[in-house]
Formats: sequence, structure tokens, C-alpha cells
Amino acid sequence: MSGEIYTFKILRYDAQSPDKGPYFDYYKIRVITGLTVLTVLLRIRDELDGTLAFRSSCRSATCGSCAMVINGLPNLACRTQVGSFQDKTIILEPLPNMEVIKDLVVDMTPFWNMYEKVEPYLIRKSPNPEKEIFQSEQDRKKMDQFVNCILCACCYGACPVPARDPGYAGPAALAKLERFALDSRDERSAASLERVNDDKGVWGCDTLFRCIDACPKEVRPTDAVVGLRKTLVKNKFKRTIGIGGKE
Ligand code: SF4
Repeated sequence: MSGEIYTFKILRYDAQSPDKGPYFDYYKIRVITGLTVLTVLLRIRDELDGTLAFRSSCRSATCGSCAMVINGLPNLACRTQVGSFQDKTIILEPLPNMEVIKDLVVDMTPFWNMYEKVEPYLIRKSPNPEKEIFQSEQDRKKMDQFVNCILCACCYGACPVPARDPGYAGPAALAKLERFALDSRDERSAASLERVNDDKGVWGCDTLFRCIDACPKEVRPTDAVVGLRKTLVKNKFKRTIGIGGKE
């Protein structure tokens, strides 16, 4: 039989039966070249242990559902090949900074709450145009990387700040805010950016770049933090000298 035997060491916990855990379960699986961590999880659940809980959907690094910690680093199970690890033991744990509901499934409410706070949609003040709003290729490029975010929360799990300050907006929310702040069609006011002008927002970032390392879509949330900081300082300067600075 081809393939190699890997041991999957998976953190188990059930918030409905907290006295039983957390603890690790071990599953031995023969893995052929090309199998992803998600494929193995589906096999474990189908063939060995139907009680194992994890999220998944698209299987193509598009929906962001299968984010988890794989051998110590947040990543998507569907884009991680088991064979990419030399060690034949793969450790799977839930994303940090969120409560575990069951096994690898976390309660993403804090992540979504922060996301909602930044108003992650196009805000217009001008009347709706007759046709679509034109955006030049050059303007689109400014926000390219942030558009790629799939809201998987790998960056939120990798960030050290929410662990000590659950009120911190987090990398994905700040990246999404910068995505709309940079959008040539968006007309949000300078005052609306003020909501992240404190240590719960852009000034709370430790700039350790862990979000960048964790992001499976090559988004660089720290760039958003730096960009927003610059905009906020510029806006303050404009207000101080009495030019611009819409409120
Ligand atoms: Fe996931 Fe990257 Fe978006 Fe964070 S910035 S939610 S890691 S895709």
C-alpha cells in the first residue's frame, strides 16, 4: 500500500461538557502525496470518529471556514498538504483568541463584531449614479491586496493583542476598513475613521507582523494599520491648520 502513516494529534474539547477536557486524541492515517489536512479530517470523521467537529465548505481556500492552527501556525486546512511537513505527527488546534465551541470549531462572534464596527461596505453620499461607478485600474490597484481577504480569521488568531485586550479591532477589521478607505468610490467621512484612532484600533497594533505571516491570501493587515495611521495623522494636521478634514 502506498503512502506514509501520519499521526494526527487533535485537541478535543466540548463546551457542553467542560469537565471532560481539553485533551488530545490521536488518529493514525495513511497519507498519499497530495492529500490536504482537510481531506484527512474528513476521512477521520467519516471512517474513525464521527464526533470530531471542524468547519469546512469550499475546499479551495476561498470560503475561509477551515482555518485552524496546524503545527503551531494558523492556516487553512484545505490548502495545507500533509506531505509539506517532515514530521509525521501533525498537531491540530482551534484558532486562539476565540472561545472553543467544540474541538476545532470556535465561536467567531468577537471577530464578526469587530468586523461589523468598521462598516465594511461602500458608503456613498452622492446620489446613486445612472450607471455603475467607474474605477480606474490604477485606483483598483491601491486596494488590491485588501480585497483578497476571505475573512478566515487566521490573522485574528495569530495576533497577540486580542488575548490581552478583547476590545481590540484586530487585523482583519482594520484591513477591511483600509480597503474601503482606499476605494475611490467610497465617500465615508474623515470622522468615521476616528473610531479606530485609539489603542482599540490602529494604535493598539504591536506591529509584530504575525498577521502577515498567518494570512493564506497574502493580505498584509499591518500595511492597513500603517496606512490608516498615516491618514489619521494627516487628517488631524489638516484640521489643525484649518484645511479640509471633513467631519
Ligand atoms: Fe484571513 Fe488574511 Fe483576511 Fe486575515 S487578512 S481574515 S488572515 S484572509
